[in-house]
Amino acid sequence: MSAPMVRIEEIAQHVAEEVTIQGWVYNRTHKGKLVFLLVRDGSGFVQCVAFKNDLVIEVFESMAHIPQESSVRITGQVRADDRAPGVPGGYELGVTGFEVVQASAEDYPITLKEHGTDFLMENRHLWIRTPSQWAILRIRATIISAIREWLDQHGFINMDTPILTPAAGEGTSTLFEVDYFGDAIYLAQTGQLYNEANIFSLGKVYCFGPTFRAEKSKTRRHLTEFWMVEPEMAFCELDELMEIEEQFVSHIVQRVLSERAAELTALGRDISQLEKITPPFPRISYDEALEKLTEIREATTDPELKERLQIEWGEDFGSPHETELTKLFEKPVFVYGYPTEAKAFYMEPWPGRPEVSKSVDLLAPEGYGEIIGGSERISDPELLLQRIHEHELPEEAFKWYIELRKYGSVPHSGFGLGVERTVTWLCGINHIRETIPFPRTLNRIYP
Ligand code: ATP
Ligand code: MG
Repeated sequence: MSAPMVRIEEIAQHVAEEVTIQGWVYNRTHKGKLVFLLVRDGSGFVQCVAFKNDLVIEVFESMAHIPQESSVRITGQVRADDRAPGVPGGYELGVTGFEVVQASAEDYPITLKEHGTDFLMENRHLWIRTPSQWAILRIRATIISAIREWLDQHGFINMDTPILTPAAGEGTSTLFEVDYFGDAIYLAQTGQLYNEANIFSLGKVYCFGPTFRAEKSKTRRHLTEFWMVEPEMAFCELDELMEIEEQFVSHIVQRVLSERAAELTALGRDISQLEKITPPFPRISYDEALEKLTEIREATTDPELKERLQIEWGEDFGSPHETELTKLFEKPVFVYGYPTEAKAFYMEPWPGRPEVSKSVDLLAPEGYGEIIGGSERISDPELLLQRIHEHELPEEAFKWYIELRKYGSVPHSGFGLGVERTVTWLCGINHIRETIPFPRTLNRIYP
């Protein structure tokens, strides 16, 4: 075959030309003298149409019977046709040549029928080939690229923080213990504490890596291994932190819109909801949020909702609370000033209100809820030590962390954005397990 090899995502630039693509057969239909193959190559899906009279009969017959998932090379003329299915769609290939690389075994488990989630999870290594999973994973990669792009362009230095850690960073209940030559150590729940050291050298930093939490409850928003980006800034207080977060998140959303519109459309995502995501974002205090929740509870006639929204001052919001709150706003909403008792040990107290912390969560709209947790950090060594005692954390392990407050302490703040939560929201899907190639959850570690 002498036609140039192209990727499906570039096909629009080759209308009326003969090209070759290589990929896999996703779907096949056969109607009399016509065979339609929907072929995917990693960059997109395109319809290839073979007309019996245009091909040697053996070639046509081999196309007419090619099993789903067979690997193939196809040459053909690119035609624009609005009705042609595919991603991006609107183009098809009039087949002039067809070559089989491997005819797939006939028992491919993921047929084009509906399958149950357990079955799909068991076959995750194959499930990722389907259009919805392919689209989600492409969007994920763009989100990750946009995260790095914004931080790198805004003076943040990438610092890789350790994954093997001697102490808890984010509460002791979700630690994964590892045997380290006879000592018990833990997989990192956060890189934040190390980044608090890094800012005293580099000013503005971020770490971006896998994070491990032994989440013992089954929810649609928790994985046991997830990816988190954690920016940390010296000389930064809570207001500035929120400004940075809204710029950062808006950039991610706008980049996904400009680069992955075809994938969003393939997922059936309502793009107009995402177009609204521009700074500034609304800000409400925890106290105000609690008032709004009380109003919703009083107004509802649904006894189950009343029950789910039950909350006392001092408790952290659960997903039902976040879901109701985010329905009140079109953009992500900042909730700041959570009760100290509901949050981690390192958060700076609110001036004059020690029962409140200088914390802020960012809740994604349309019911998605928390995507970012952040705060100003305690800058006084005495107070920090007191908190470490209150939380019954081992003082020895935090010696270095307290020392940071001794040599040139400054107000400083940072946040953690969960990649998979962001993917869930932007893709408009209802479970976090589809947002990472091979999810790790309470009940699943295979494949
Ligand atoms: P939640 O209350 O929703 O369990 P958290 O308050 O424990 O989350 P943080 O410690 O604030 O989470 O972590 C920062 C961000 O990391 C969260 O806003 C979220 O986007 C993400 N994240 C936290 N835990 C998980 C998890 N188990 N799976 C996926 N993402 C997570
Ligand atoms: Mg949080």
